Amino acid sequence: MSTTAANLSDTYRHKGLRRALLQKLREMGIADERVLDAMDRVPRHHFMDDAFVHFAYDNKAFRIGAGQTISHPYTVARQTELLGLEPGAKVLEIGTGSGYQCAVLVAMGFKVHSIERQKALFDRTTPFLKQQGYRAHCYYGDGYKGKPAFAPFDGILVTCGAPRIPEALLGQLAVGGRLIIPLDDPEAGEGKQTMTEVRRMDEETFTRRTHGTFAFVPMLAARSGAQG
Ligand code: SAH
Repeated sequence: MSTTAANLSDTYRHKGLRRALLQKLREMGIADERVLDAMDRVPRHHFMDDAFVHFAYDNKAFRIGAGQTISHPYTVARQTELLGLEPGAKVLEIGTGSGYQCAVLVAMGFKVHSIERQKALFDRTTPFLKQQGYRAHCYYGDGYKGKPAFAPFDGILVTCGAPRIPEALLGQLAVGGRLIIPLDDPEAGEGKQTMTEVRRMDEETFTRRTHGTFAFVPMLAARSGAQG
């Protein structure tokens, strides 16, 4: 994440690079212009370590410290698009990380709740998002448990590769809502996941669709001391 005032500028050059990236995302198949518009309004370079800001508008994932990464722009765009939600919807994100995906969700006009299991990232990202004016509710805790106090959610977006669908997240989905989760898939390859959409049709019925192969850092169990 950027720490100096100079890096928190958003120059014409940055804006130009961002427009070019968005064009590339269109060519890659992102069709929801609202998602692209939200990404246009969030300077991705603000969420990256100073050493990497020059690469902020390449379509790549980067390390953000604590062994974690900021997702590929295509991945952020695709997951946001798959939520299929309107402004005002209530969304739960699992894996706050750098806060970039969270900021894009806020820019979409969603009411955003986000959980991070690593204290160091939580402590760094929560005040950063606030300082940059992105209004989101951030929690230090275990994403496997979701956030029952604020359920049901119109959408739940998991930004780490999960070994299975956490039961608690299904229960916290509103009827008609979607869970977008990258699921470990041996057929996709080691360390790869299949993007999975689970839609709640009614209290008991869930449907499932898949959307291709992606690569995420693993979803891990909570460390002792993390609050649910
Ligand atoms: N959305 C982030 C992506 C960060 S990478 C961004 O835009 O930068 C995935 C994040 O998920 C990491 O920060 C990791 O610490 C977090 N994570 C892993 N397991 C988790 C769990 N069980 N609960 C909550 N967060 C988790």
